[in-house]
Amino acid sequence: SSYLASRLDTVKPSPSMAAKARVDALRASGKEIVDLTIGEPDFPTPLHIIASGIAALQSGQTRYTGSTGTPSLRSAIAKKLARENGLPYDPSDIVVGNGAKHIIYNAFSATLNEGDEVIIPTPFWVSYPDMVAINGGMPVIVKCDASTGFKLTAAALEKAITPRTKWLVLNTPNNPTGAVYTAEELASLCEVLNGHPDVWLMTDEIYEHFVYGEATHVSPLQIDPRLIGRTLIVNGVSKAYAMTGWRIGYGAGPGVLMKAISLLLSQSTTCPSAISQAAATEALNGPQQCVREATALFKDRRDSMVRLLNEIPGIDCTLPDGAFYVFPNVSGAIGKTTPSGTRLGSDIDVMMYLLEMAGVATIDGSSYGQPGYLRMSFATSFEQIEQGCAQIATAFAQLR
Ligand code: PLP
Repeated sequence: SSYLASRLDTVKPSPSMAAKARVDALRASGKEIVDLTIGEPDFPTPLHIIASGIAALQSGQTRYTGSTGTPSLRSAIAKKLARENGLPYDPSDIVVGNGAKHIIYNAFSATLNEGDEVIIPTPFWVSYPDMVAINGGMPVIVKCDASTGFKLTAAALEKAITPRTKWLVLNTPNNPTGAVYTAEELASLCEVLNGHPDVWLMTDEIYEHFVYGEATHVSPLQIDPRLIGRTLIVNGVSKAYAMTGWRIGYGAGPGVLMKAISLLLSQSTTCPSAISQAAATEALNGPQQCVREATALFKDRRDSMVRLLNEIPGIDCTLPDGAFYVFPNVSGAIGKTTPSGTRLGSDIDVMMYLLEMAGVATIDGSSYGQPGYLRMSFATSFEQIEQGCAQIATAFAQLR
């Protein structure tokens, strides 16, 4: 038997990390790669936020903080939830972690018993099923497809719920599709949840600020405040403030859950970096112009990327309402043959063909539970977007 815990048998490495490793290896061998796998803003953290991090260092905020985060950061989060989401949270119902991912992981760890089910609609952020599995739960993957804009419907939710269902995970705006749930869609899902009082709702709103055109971000709790006693809001500063490396995310929810999460945090990480917490406080309390600028920039990049991709025969790309990814259908290339005589049998083959032939890194839809598609990030420069799409066009034109 293995030296390692059998728990690990169900866990796969993150496909985005694997994609990054492929890019690094090709670059190390001297190849130029246009990297469209990036899951973070490509610009630096705004200067006023960096300055507050430096000030925190210089003023001696270099010690342990409470395991749920500093009072000033938790109060900034409570104000943010009231100001931007209209949600009434007391700072005592908020826990700060080392990223939103850390909060999600600990929420599963704090609640899942062996075999408990967690409903995860496809396409999903790659980490949810593995975080459920590593904590002894059963991911229940519910297929959503292009016909519903890749969104979970009330009927599909109702069908997936069993007596063992512990959580429904919703992610709006969605990674990888950019789908944004409307108020009506959320209302119909909340309606179903109201019929199942033992099912909790985890709502991952990390991309909330990146919505475009007519789309607006709505939190399910704004639609149905009755669910507040069994909802965990997950959010963080990584994406909105270009702070992925600072590692600050948070959860807001009922006291019983927040106490359990903070118990786990206190016995594992003690607290997130005090310096990062000070910077995150400034991010949330300070001027918000940087978020609006990032959103405007992403919107323009989205528009060019979608336009360029749709000019390529074999690619069909809908305009995403949010986040910073496009999720084109590449099934037009599947079944075709490459110049070297290989038949492309799946989106994974298309992804590898683009990486090797076009020098463009993307992530296969299969990793997100949706074969036939690729995820491409537009959190990169216009030049990279244009060059990447041109190289994809050339590679697609060579398929027979
Ligand atoms: N949730 C979603 C949907 C994400 O895409 C990501 C990051 O890629 C996260 C959560 C994690 O963010 P954080 O940096 O706060 O851990």
